[in-house]
Amino acid sequence: MPICITCTEPTPYLYTVYSDSAYNLRLEQCKKCLSFADPYVEHDSLTLILDLILLKRGVYRHLLYNRGSEPRIVCETKNATIPTNPSNAELAREKARWMRILRLSSGTVLVDAFIRWAQLNPTICADISQWSNDTSVVFLRILVGCFVETVAFHGGVMLASIFVLHVSDWLTAASHIRKEGVSGVRQQFRISLIPLSVHYSSFTKYFLLFLLTIWRPSTSKIDGKPYRYHGPLYENALVIRALEIWDEDKLDREWVVRNILGGVAAGFGLRVVLDCHPFFTTAVILVGWVVKTAVAELLRDWVSVDQDVWLAYSIP
Ligand SMILES: [Zn+2]
Repeated sequence: MPICITCTEPTPYLYTVYSDSAYNLRLEQCKKCLSFADPYVEHDSLTLILDLILLKRGVYRHLLYNRGSEPRIVCETKNATIPTNPSNAELAREKARWMRILRLSSGTVLVDAFIRWAQLNPTICADISQWSNDTSVVFLRILVGCFVETVAFHGGVMLASIFVLHVSDWLTAASHIRKEGVSGVRQQFRISLIPLSVHYSSFTKYFLLFLLTIWRPSTSKIDGKPYRYHGPLYENALVIRALEIWDEDKLDREWVVRNILGGVAAGFGLRVVLDCHPFFTTAVILVGWVVKTAVAELLRDWVSVDQDVWLAYSIP
């Protein structure tokens, strides 16, 4: 069943369509908070993507729980509502979610493999005429490696999430904190929502990585020296060292975006689905990273590329 994106109360329909015109629709109001259940049903894809990049909770709830839900259809000539089968609709939406996961996974694995391959072979990447059979084999191995890592990461995150949900339920039952009952998010929980939320949260990371490819940081000044912090303002050694971390030659911005910002965004996406304390979602992400890094470590000899670079870019 869909949910209200403001208060997560389950609602049977998000909007009503009148059978005389496909464009004649009316948004449903939530019975609990009295706001529109899901205004995103009227928004275009560009607005959805922008709000997804900006990590807005409402758009996550719309895409995860409400996308593809059946409207209430009213036949005006007979003045009657055409009934829909809720169990069939739920099955169709679950199937659509897994198909979406498959499509998003194939896209991100391909992009991730190409980015890593480009990092490892910058000269061939710039000149496509140097592409040979050996290069294809290396690319295919990186592609398979990325696929196995992605499966390991999502597997680790899913198992950790299920464990966290059990612990969270047990803690709630033991302390009797939640008196108002189970939230709509938890009532409508499906296992497919975990990988889907992680995929949606990676949009923020890919957008920032894309920006970094356009506005690459300058590696040196005009006289050839790298940008460094020269601190006449501070005399404290700790402050100077903290500021030196941001020097162009020491800070790997891609690593920061992939790991730190990617992790924060994934934690945000998981929190929408798991509806638990940020401590638990952070723990889930860390478990996923550990599993993924362990698998990357196992794969590095088989991939047979520069091992340091492979491991440095092993966490998307
Ligand atoms: Zn509501």
